[in-house]
Amino acid sequence: MIGTNHSAATDGADADIAIVGAGPAGLACAAEAAALGLSSVLLDDNPRPGGQYLRHPAFATAPEDPLGADARRLASLLAVTALPQVSYRPGATVWDLPAPGVLAVAEGERSGRVRAHAIVLATGAYDRPAPFPGWTLPGVISAGAAQNLLKGMRILPGRRVVVAGNGPLLMLVAANLLACGVEVVAIAEAAPVSPRLWRALPLLLSQSDLLMQAARWRYAFWRAGVPFLQSWTIAHATGADRVDGAVLCPLNPDGTRDGARARSFACDSIIVGYGLLASVELLRLAKAALHWEPQRGGFVPVRDAAFRTTVPGVWAVGDGAGIGGARLAEAEGRIAAHAIATTRCHRGDQRRLSDLCARWGRIDQFRRGLEQLFAAPLPPHGPVGDETVICRCEEVTAGMLAAARDGGAESAVQVKAATRLGMGRCQGRNCLPSLSAMVAREQDASPGEVAWPMPRPPARMIPIGALLVESLPPPNLPADPHLPRKRAG
Ligand SMILES: Cc1cc2nc3c(=O)[nH]c(=O)nc-3n(C[C@H](O)[C@H](O)[C@H](O)COP(=O)(O)OP(=O)(O)OC[C@H]3O[C@@H](n4cnc5c(N)ncnc54)[C@H](O)[C@@H]3O)c2cc1C
Repeated sequence: MIGTNHSAATDGADADIAIVGAGPAGLACAAEAAALGLSSVLLDDNPRPGGQYLRHPAFATAPEDPLGADARRLASLLAVTALPQVSYRPGATVWDLPAPGVLAVAEGERSGRVRAHAIVLATGAYDRPAPFPGWTLPGVISAGAAQNLLKGMRILPGRRVVVAGNGPLLMLVAANLLACGVEVVAIAEAAPVSPRLWRALPLLLSQSDLLMQAARWRYAFWRAGVPFLQSWTIAHATGADRVDGAVLCPLNPDGTRDGARARSFACDSIIVGYGLLASVELLRLAKAALHWEPQRGGFVPVRDAAFRTTVPGVWAVGDGAGIGGARLAEAEGRIAAHAIATTRCHRGDQRRLSDLCARWGRIDQFRRGLEQLFAAPLPPHGPVGDETVICRCEEVTAGMLAAARDGGAESAVQVKAATRLGMGRCQGRNCLPSLSAMVAREQDASPGEVAWPMPRPPARMIPIGALLVESLPPPNLPADPHLPRKRAG
């Protein structure tokens, strides 16, 4: 087993809590746990703490930086990694939950186990892929990746940019691009936001500073003359070797596209953001009950009021349990720490807990307001071409999927077996949601009703060397003479 350096390991466990993910949710959970006297192991596959939101602390702390202003308040959480009660392990990928209270963790070429009384999954989210003709051309970039380029590397994704998709992250990206001097040619938002504003306003007022920020963005778009097209979507990207334009078109109320009113915009980059998907790979491996909530990131875990999942000893917080933004993630991490403290015979701090729950309620109100405002049909909104790639890892096109379906493959599982879709590097994280949306559309069902293929470890990519040195339990299969024998050590 890989050693840990924290101080308070008990009963053969490495710590009271093992937290997967050092974003706002995981960091807040570790901070609150430390204040309650609990030890934690904080595991994250990135070299630096902060998750998606605080990944670039330089920008979170520079007062003059327009990209960092939103993150300054939460940046203080980064100091948690230096607390003596917290064993922070960067570059640690959790790839399985092999037994209750046990995580399988790969660090470099090593793999081992972390044992804890409670496990908190704070695994965050990733960009929802939205295949459309031309989406694999160089110059088409997801909204989250554009944020990372801007904030992390100071790289502009283009000079003349079209922004298309759905949800608040899209507006944030467009505002950041403008602030960095990029010409934003047009913004296509799939939801009819403005007419819904008055109805959602009572909920949105619960975080009035965020509402004001959105109003400032809209003012900046208006002042710069950026068309903000509502109930519009991307139809296709044009260009031979790279993007040279975007064709946008209005959406009908039933979610279909009105191709007759399509408009072309010349550009050198298209930023596409149709929301985020919750990273539930570990929850699926743990066999936690999930339910379908498209506006919250697809399949999300069933949880109680303290964010316990249906698996004993496993909590899920933050975007990985349902998209809600960094503020909600922070509040959930803190509340989960209190719930875990009570399971460790801790008296807890009732006053602090009720303050946190009240705060969570206000932020969740804002989240529900955003949900009302941005509700829109899921991508893709129209037919994709036969040549459109759906599974980028295995290069499976829409035409190949249609051929598999014509050949008798009915379910998502059968299509995967027939085409290799979902068997590549991303293990289906990106293409299975698109496949299940297609199958659902054909069966006139909800994507949540389409069964996904069985998840298998490793939950994330790890070096094969990490598995070779690990002492695996004997497989429940007869010995295979073609496989190498288990190595000692
Ligand atoms: C690409 C991207 C960019 C974004 N940019 C912004 C932005 O600029 N501004 C904004 O307001 N919101 C942004 N968001 C949304 C914002 O990140 C979230 O609302 C917020 O960070 C949620 O916090 P969290 O702690 O739940 O998850 P995250 O901040 O996502 O943290 C989760 C962490 O867990 C790690 N992890 C996941 N699985 C494992 C595993 N198996 N083993 C080890 N580690 C694991 C991840 O690598 C990550 O570091 C972005 C989202 C994405 C996907």
